[in-house]
Amino acid sequence: MKQQGIFDHLIDQLTALPGVGRKSAQRLAFFILKMTISEAKKIGQAIIDVKDQLAFCQICNNITEYEICTICSSPKRDTQKVLILEEPSTLHIIEQTGEYKGLYHILLGAIAPLPGHKTAAPSIQNLIERLKKGGITEVILATNPTIEGESTAIYLTRLIQPLGIKVSRIAFGIPVGIDIEYADEVSLVKSLQGRREIEKLS
Ligand SMILES: [Zn+2]
Repeated sequence: MKQQGIFDHLIDQLTALPGVGRKSAQRLAFFILKMTISEAKKIGQAIIDVKDQLAFCQICNNITEYEICTICSSPKRDTQKVLILEEPSTLHIIEQTGEYKGLYHILLGAIAPLPGHKTAAPSIQNLIERLKKGGITEVILATNPTIEGESTAIYLTRLIQPLGIKVSRIAFGIPVGIDIEYADEVSLVKSLQGRREIEKLS
């Protein structure tokens, strides 16, 4: 009975992961059960290391071992441009293209407040504070082409344009409805190059 409890507990923990339903969690749990103890420990330790040693950059929310990430602290970046992303995973894909040399701001989700709610997520408040300090001339919105991503883009445009900063939206050679992180490099480069300034919202 106790052993069954331990196994079910592992399944419960695995279902907490995004995209893992009960069936997949069971499959993973059986797979883990068949692993050697050293293989299983490697996975466990990797999870602990991430939580122990990594955090979000205090400026841009990128994943970093330091307080400020290597992009924010690099003297080689174009500090006048800020690219807005939903997730840190997309940053790595854009960096791989080598096309973009500016800075980033990661929202950690598509998070325009719901109608009737005034408070924006902390990452949006941080962004506005950052922009108010000056020095940034263009904000490029690269939220996903989903309903949530689009409404976040519109919400941010309304907040940023009054600060006198140019706001552009990346073009979508990327299929509508999918996350940017699944786009191929060529589409991503094209969409960055083809970005358009968003007309002043009234
Ligand atoms: Zn950073």
